[in-house]
Amino acid sequence: MDELQSTQDSAPIVDLAGICEIADGVWIIPDSHRIPLVPNIGIVEGKRSVLVIDTGMGPKNAEMVLNAATKIANGRQLLLTITHFHPEHGFGHQAFAGKATIFYNRKQRDELRAKGPGYLAMFRGFGENVAKCLVGVEFVDPDLVYDGSATIELGGREVELIEMGPAHSLGDQVVWLPKERIVFVGDLVETRVFPIVPYFPPDDADVNGNKWIKVLRRIMALKPKTVITGHGEIGGPELVEIAERYLTEMGQQVERLKNSGVSEDDIVAQLGPMIRNKHPDWREPNWVESGIRCFYSTGYNAGATETTQ
Ligand SMILES: [Zn+2]
Repeated sequence: MDELQSTQDSAPIVDLAGICEIADGVWIIPDSHRIPLVPNIGIVEGKRSVLVIDTGMGPKNAEMVLNAATKIANGRQLLLTITHFHPEHGFGHQAFAGKATIFYNRKQRDELRAKGPGYLAMFRGFGENVAKCLVGVEFVDPDLVYDGSATIELGGREVELIEMGPAHSLGDQVVWLPKERIVFVGDLVETRVFPIVPYFPPDDADVNGNKWIKVLRRIMALKPKTVITGHGEIGGPELVEIAERYLTEMGQQVERLKNSGVSEDDIVAQLGPMIRNKHPDWREPNWVESGIRCFYSTGYNAGATETTQ
């Protein structure tokens, strides 16, 4: 986490100037400047309602997102969901309380209740810019929860919320627009960022590399045309494949060394630089070590794949 802290030179403020309509009635407030802890945020219009996906970090960012959504909605009902509970995706939801119907899956709600205060304290330690964003954060419960999956009819447009966790977090959710074949995947996939493996035992060891790989295969099976990642540029299905290949190779390499009796620390020392060097243009290399340690703890058992080496 030290590297995350040291790279947090820019305040993680959402950039409303970058808002763009990527398909008819589908808007993105993009992570245009690749600033850590600024997520890609979605606003999806229907005839009756408008769905916001993720809030940005802290109440001020969320207010800005709410204002943008309110302008687009122009009197239509607002809904809010999040891809997962992590601070830059959901710790601004208080701004939406009473103004939007907040709709999560049950695991997201429970994970936020259980881990929200701990993550708030942890993130406040990531430097002044992050702490400033997190001033005044309050946690609210969603108005509605679902289990498994839910279809929202926005009016002329159906949106599917699909529970995917545990993977990157317990309550990961993808938001799928079947007609447009657009999928919002949160931190299950990033663009040119090392997959974020929040493995912090004993405080939080719920991230699961094996299940994450299987989730990525489920997303690939949806055959999306456009993938809205948690951070970094949006793109096509190749972004999901890159993440799947990265985690699969890491899992297999860790497993092979572990089975040969190499210690966890020695695996980190051997594999870490190799993996980091393979992706010189990716951000946040600190996540390589936590990925290795996560796979060391669980072992690799995500099954056969065409990406075996
Ligand atoms: Zn996350």
